[in-house]
Amino acid sequence: MAARHRNRTAMSAPYAEVIGDPIAQSKSPLIHGFWLKALGLPGDYRRRHVTPDDLAAYIGERRADAGWRGCNVTIPHKVAVMDLVDDPGNIRGTIGAMNTIVRQPDGALIGTNTDAAGFYAPLAELDLQGAPVVVVGAGGAARAVLFALARAGVGPVTILNRSPLKAMGLLATFGLKGDVAPLDASLPPAALLVNASSLGMTGQPPLDLDLAPLPDDAIVYDLVYAPLQTGLLKAAAARGLDTVDGLDMLIGQAALAFELFFGAPPPEGRDEELRALLTA
Ligand code: NAP
Repeated sequence: MAARHRNRTAMSAPYAEVIGDPIAQSKSPLIHGFWLKALGLPGDYRRRHVTPDDLAAYIGERRADAGWRGCNVTIPHKVAVMDLVDDPGNIRGTIGAMNTIVRQPDGALIGTNTDAAGFYAPLAELDLQGAPVVVVGAGGAARAVLFALARAGVGPVTILNRSPLKAMGLLATFGLKGDVAPLDASLPPAALLVNASSLGMTGQPPLDLDLAPLPDDAIVYDLVYAPLQTGLLKAAAARGLDTVDGLDMLIGQAALAFELFFGAPPPEGRDEELRALLTA
């Protein structure tokens, strides 16, 4: 009887997951595992390979599992999961992609997106009201970036993208004033330049931009975190500009999800240790 009770307790230990296809590259288990250990919280955060064909069955199984607190969602499921979970925050009608699902005690599954707030966290102290901004890219990450920038009331936004039509659609979606240009266009004198494209990632072509038109107090923010010091960030640093790297957003979006899953914020003052772990 005692053994059975122990077993049941072990099975109901809280856990969360990250799902994707592929999933081996995800750094989320390292981040959440570091915080769980630092806080001494019982629980686990696992990597789970889920293919598009298996997505609905996975969600159905986890809905019935009281130990499962939820999951982070990565490529290629961020859009498809919106059909499988509740959406009280109207993520579908705004950002258009979910990266976090949280299970409620009654089994309801709430979908949300922590990428936008994670992106904005390092900029929160700045006044970007009316500031001209350049965003490179028009994919899922760019949607979260543009959503956050629109809420911050930025000024004209120039989107540089390989597919200009996609970029024009995003300006309209987020009610932003601005324009669209090809990737080799000259930069306007923007206060903030954000790379939300895959360019500069390991295995992808570099992002070659001439940063000369940016003012001396401009900030260059690259969402790419593999490698951490991208060619864009190196060029920005060489020009003496302030930079923000992709780990800030990665840790920021994870922090919000961690609190939703495990009911406590990540420990304070441990970011440098975590960054060292993530870049080891
Ligand atoms: P996505 O939806 O696939 O979008 C990719 C974007 O990159 C599109 O704008 C695409 O242009 C452009 N692109 C891809 N390959 C290109 C090429 N060869 N030449 C020109 N443009 C190219 O991907 P995503 O989810 O938005 O992710 C974009 C990047 O953000 C990735 O590096 C990802 O790792 C990073 N990211 C970081 C975080 C973080 O927490 N730091 C979070 C999310 C994403 P088209 O529109 O023309 O196809």
